Amino acid sequence: MEHIKDNRWGLQKKLTSGKEYYEIRLESIGGLGANLCGKMLGELGIKYLDLNSSSFSSYGSEKTGTPVKGFIRYCDKAKEIRVHSPVVEPDLLVVFHQALLKDGIVWKGCGNETAVIVALEPGQALPEGLPGQLYGLKAQQIAMETHSRINVVMMGAVLKLMGLKSVEKGEQICRDTLGKKYPEALENNLQGLRRGYEEVGPLEQNVNSVKAAGEESKGQAREGIWGYETAPMGGINPRPGSTVVSDLSPSRQGYIPLFIQERCINCGLCLSTCPDMVFQFAKGEYKGREMMVNQGLDYYHCKGCLRCVDVCPVNALVRGIESEHPNKQYFLPNQELLRMPAYYEKAGPDGYITSESYLTEKRMEGGEV
Ligand code: SF4
Ligand code: SF4
Repeated sequence: MEHIKDNRWGLQKKLTSGKEYYEIRLESIGGLGANLCGKMLGELGIKYLDLNSSSFSSYGSEKTGTPVKGFIRYCDKAKEIRVHSPVVEPDLLVVFHQALLKDGIVWKGCGNETAVIVALEPGQALPEGLPGQLYGLKAQQIAMETHSRINVVMMGAVLKLMGLKSVEKGEQICRDTLGKKYPEALENNLQGLRRGYEEVGPLEQNVNSVKAAGEESKGQAREGIWGYETAPMGGINPRPGSTVVSDLSPSRQGYIPLFIQERCINCGLCLSTCPDMVFQFAKGEYKGREMMVNQGLDYYHCKGCLRCVDVCPVNALVRGIESEHPNKQYFLPNQELLRMPAYYEKAGPDGYITSESYLTEKRMEGGEV
């Protein structure tokens, strides 16, 4: 492991202290490129770090905005990797957007010996009580400034935390992969990678709240042991990949549609184009006629694809830099759509809602439900 430093959270330290594998979990959302990042990290181990490695991702409908997890394992090159299950207790957790931390399942399995890298959002506070040793960087801002993608920026940060002495091996794997796939974007991506490596740094944390979170995450792990043998009969999973309940704001990549209402002619093209029911029309008056009028957008469900901007015939929707508009005008939460945090409160992350037939059975047994 000549390319790797012996730092406390790094790969070398963990592998020489008796751990079989150094394990990384990427937590992301469709569209941010975590899958490709995981693949490159996996290949990096075998091609350039003289290790054995494996990587795979888990995702749902391959739709922008759905949850994506990536798993990478490294071990000594003489060892065969026989474990092909998701990484449950990562050595390094990589969170591609700060808003994902609202969901406790994202940092499930992390303890005080886990290093956590978070892509920070300007102006947003971190939730209290995150476990692990926290590191952060303004990944989205770096990606926008370098015209690269957030995945290469996060990969640079990962290489630093893994203990790589320089970013050079990461550059090589980017050249191998992105150089073939997107040759015109290679230089920008290399810049993003370098800045990720250089700019990731430790975040302050509150020791007391870390302790509290450790207890909480143990609780979640207990809840998570429900499987096909232990889950209640007829239980249903309240975590559908559906965008109706998903907060899609983490999949935006720095840009949002801005609504200029005085230009709007209420043609409805944005409504029929938007894949995520963001626009809200209600009965109203336009030029003296009663009609459905565009009231605004629910940014909770907007993934920032900007198709609405392309389609609007009168430039009533324009592209804006999200960080310049923290208080979004015409942000109109749609009450008919579920919001994930409220939805979770009762069931808890990874919990189950018991179905009516199960409840009936419990009542018949005289048990409490
Ligand atoms: S496409 Fe433009 S003009 Fe038409 S309703 Fe939407 S915002 Fe208004
Ligand atoms: S950018 Fe426009 S089309 Fe895309 S999700 Fe947001 S509102 Fe809908």
